[in-house]
Amino acid sequence: MVNITDLVKTADWKVEKHVPVIDCADSVSENEVFEVKVSIGKKVAHPNTTEHHIGWVSLYFQPEGDKNPYQVGHYEFTAHGDSVQGPNTGAVFSHHAVLTWIKINKPGVIFAVSSCNLHGLWQSSKEIILK
Ligand code: FE
Repeated sequence: MVNITDLVKTADWKVEKHVPVIDCADSVSENEVFEVKVSIGKKVAHPNTTEHHIGWVSLYFQPEGDKNPYQVGHYEFTAHGDSVQGPNTGAVFSHHAVLTWIKINKPGVIFAVSSCNLHGLWQSSKEIILK
């Protein structure tokens, strides 16, 4: 049986353009709202065309000691230059980056999963501790 975790790839974001990069504080205060930025292709740009683009990114938080992760948000990038004139002729392209705010009351790990329409699922994670 194939497990979906076998299909979610990861790599060093500095050389692999599909890996989501999570930018946020390393340590936060309990229940203090903080900023989380997720971008794809931070160092090596990922294409954003009708034919090849990032479709979505999902964020999860796995609190230390909890059994299951919580989904924090799911962010869809739905404009990729398609129009009635044809591919890449549209007036708008969604850029594959997200800025959001969360608060936590336990330390844990933030996970980001991104989806490229041609190259599948990619993930990364970042540990957060409480001050
Ligand atoms: Fe791709």
